[in-house]
Amino acid sequence: MIKKELLYEGKAKKIFRTDDPNLLWVEYKDDATAFNGLKKGAVSGKGELNNKISAHFFRLLAQNGIESHLVAEKSHREMVVKSLQIIRVEVVLRNIAAGSLSKRLGLPEGTVLPSTVVEYYYKNDELHDPLVNDDHIRILDLATPEQMSEIKEIALKVNEVLRAHLAERELDLIDFKLEFGLHNGQIILGDEISPDTCRFWDKNTRKKLDKDRFRQDLGDVEQAYREVYRRLTGKQHTG
Ligand code: UDP
Repeated sequence: MIKKELLYEGKAKKIFRTDDPNLLWVEYKDDATAFNGLKKGAVSGKGELNNKISAHFFRLLAQNGIESHLVAEKSHREMVVKSLQIIRVEVVLRNIAAGSLSKRLGLPEGTVLPSTVVEYYYKNDELHDPLVNDDHIRILDLATPEQMSEIKEIALKVNEVLRAHLAERELDLIDFKLEFGLHNGQIILGDEISPDTCRFWDKNTRKKLDKDRFRQDLGDVEQAYREVYRRLTGKQHTG
C-alpha cells in the first residue's frame, strides 16, 4: 500500500489518501489542543503513544467482537484504516462525573454515577459541538433511529470491555468519546481511543493520566500517557 496526498489535517491527526480507495493513512501528531482550539501546545511523544494506545484498544475490541476501522499499524505514529462515511455525532460515555457533566449538572468531579450516562454531541466546530438528543439527531438527519440504537448498543459494550481491561491495570475509566462511521452500510467504530479522548485515573492515587493534565496545566503530560501505555502493554515506551 502506498501513502498518497494529504486529504485533511485535524487538530491531532493528519489523514492521507492511499492507492486503495477503501483505505486511509492516518498520522498521529504531537500537537495538543483544548477548549475548541483556544489552548494550543505540543506534547512530545504523544503522536506515537496515541497511535499505539488506540491500536491496542482497537485490537482488544476486535477480540471482543467489536469491529473498528483499524486495518494495520504502519509505523510508530501511523495506522491504515478503513475509509468511513463519518456519522457527525460524538458519543460520550460516563461512569464517573468529570468535565462538562460536573459543570452542567453540578455533580462534584469524582461522583460515581449510579449507571452509565450516554450523551451525544453534534460534530460541528462552528457551533462548538452542542449536546443533542435523539430527536435533534433525527431532525438534523445525522443518523437514523435504528443506526443510533445500534451505536448505543456498541458504545455500551465498548465501555464494558474497556472498563474491565483497565480495572485489571488499576485504572478507572471515568469517561470517553467515540466516533462511528459507515463502511459498506455497516456501522464501524472510527477515530481514536487514547488519553486524548478518554479520562483515566489511577485507581488508588486518583492521579489523572489523560489530557486533563494538559487542559488543566497539571504538568507531566507525556509521563502520564507513557504510564497508560506501560499499564496496557507491560512495556516501557521507548520512542
Ligand atoms: N472528548 C473528546 N473530544 C471532544 C470532547 C470530549 O475526546 O471534543 C472526551 C473527553 O476527553 C472526555 C469525554 O469526552 O474523556 C467527556 O468530555 P467532556 O464532555 O467532559 O468535555 P470537556 O471537559 O473535555 O470539555
